[in-house]
Amino acid sequence: MRARYQSLVDSMVDVAYTLDVETGKFTFVNAAVADMFGIPPEKFVGTHFLELIAPESAEEVRNTTTREYDPSDTGTFTRFSMVGAGGAVRHVEVRARRWVDGEGRVVSTGVIRDVEERFQLERRLDSEMNRLRSIVESNGALIVLVDHALDVAMVNSGFTALTGITTTDAVGRPLQEILPCPLDPARTKRSRFAVRRRDPSGRERLIAITATPATDAEGTVSSIMLLGVDDTERREAEQALYNAERFATVGEMASTMAHEISQPLQVINIACASALDEFVLASEQGGQPDPAFVQGKLDRIAQQVDQASRIIGDLRAFVRGTSSDTPEPFDPNEAVRRAIDLTDHGLGEAGMTLQERLDAPLPTVLGDAGHLAQVLVNLLNNARDAGGSIISIATGTVQENGRTFVRIAVEDSGHGIPSDILPRLFTSFVTTKPSGKGTGLGLRICRRILEEMGGRITAANRAEGGARFEILLPSQ
Ligand code: ADP
Repeated sequence: MRARYQSLVDSMVDVAYTLDVETGKFTFVNAAVADMFGIPPEKFVGTHFLELIAPESAEEVRNTTTREYDPSDTGTFTRFSMVGAGGAVRHVEVRARRWVDGEGRVVSTGVIRDVEERFQLERRLDSEMNRLRSIVESNGALIVLVDHALDVAMVNSGFTALTGITTTDAVGRPLQEILPCPLDPARTKRSRFAVRRRDPSGRERLIAITATPATDAEGTVSSIMLLGVDDTERREAEQALYNAERFATVGEMASTMAHEISQPLQVINIACASALDEFVLASEQGGQPDPAFVQGKLDRIAQQVDQASRIIGDLRAFVRGTSSDTPEPFDPNEAVRRAIDLTDHGLGEAGMTLQERLDAPLPTVLGDAGHLAQVLVNLLNNARDAGGSIISIATGTVQENGRTFVRIAVEDSGHGIPSDILPRLFTSFVTTKPSGKGTGLGLRICRRILEEMGGRITAANRAEGGARFEILLPSQ
């Protein structure tokens, strides 16, 4: 029985021991000591336990082992370091319990478990966690982790800096309470959106957020990581560029405007004069003015007033810029017509013929009609400056990867785009126009506007001469 018991104890990986509390010496150990401490059990017995404690743990161990014996003592569970085989310091966990043996001596029986590997793993994990935390904390970005119910699980200091909401206040609350946003909890693909929020100083901030869902084995969303960057300054700088370009264009359009308004005024003037003549003539002849004639003149006047108001409205919309930040569906042909209204006089004065081929009806696109008109005015003005005689603007639809896109093409018969600037036409502020005439801003801003609408713009020189700009916008 005793032999069986001994072999069972010897088969343990952990060291099992009995120790005389008074002398501090081991009175029994199992075979595992040979592996852990490099000493065979028969030599180990009689060793003082403190000899095996690593210096950094000596005081702590001495403190717990010198306590008085108390029969109600339920035992200890401690973690410290011991000197193992070959002098290597190893972390161990010790469970021990005191009792009084048959000879009336207080003994301690316990188990020593080598946890060095686990300790090293935990340490590595800790340092990994710290490294991750420092990345999460140091990049200035706002990070929020939400669970599948969109309750906040974690926020970083970037979030607190931008919103003034601390980690303790944020964790556990529904995301919509602390950061209202159009996040769909069922969406398994990455999504992007922008939210506006006041920072602790009361300034409105625009935060561009990328939401990346993590899915479990069944493909359902288990958590979503929101990574946000403060886009306020970039947006403001961009807005300033839009405005600079828009006002430069408005200046260029002044002659168009003068003409567009003076022409209806002249027509109105003539119509008024002939209506008045009719009245004068009728009264001289003692008769009545011809009602159909007078009505015709009044209709003409009303028509011209409409035309002038439309032009003024277009210009107003153009100067005002963005009407709203929320994109709305609109008919792209409407933006094309607006751009033509704003430029055709200037084109005519430059001796150019404008050909329109507008496919109608076109599917709607999502964005801002005023912004698209701004892009087209820029393309038409560039085409005018390219020195040809014919400009064409055409709209239609194309299919790409199963989706319908609206295509708007502006072509001219000018000198074409210089080959050295063609590759960077939309990326840097390049201009070949004399100072005061060109800013080099236009095409870069065009690209930005179109990208915001989910579309794109390309440019090429045509084989028959002149340039061709093509815009593709996803239909709704
Ligand atoms: P800007 O008109 O102020 O120069 P843009 O960004 O609109 O700025 O255009 C940049 C340059 O691209 C122009 O200076 C011109 O050299 C070239 N470019 C643009 N459109 C055309 C075109 N239709 N034909 C030839 N060159 C063009």
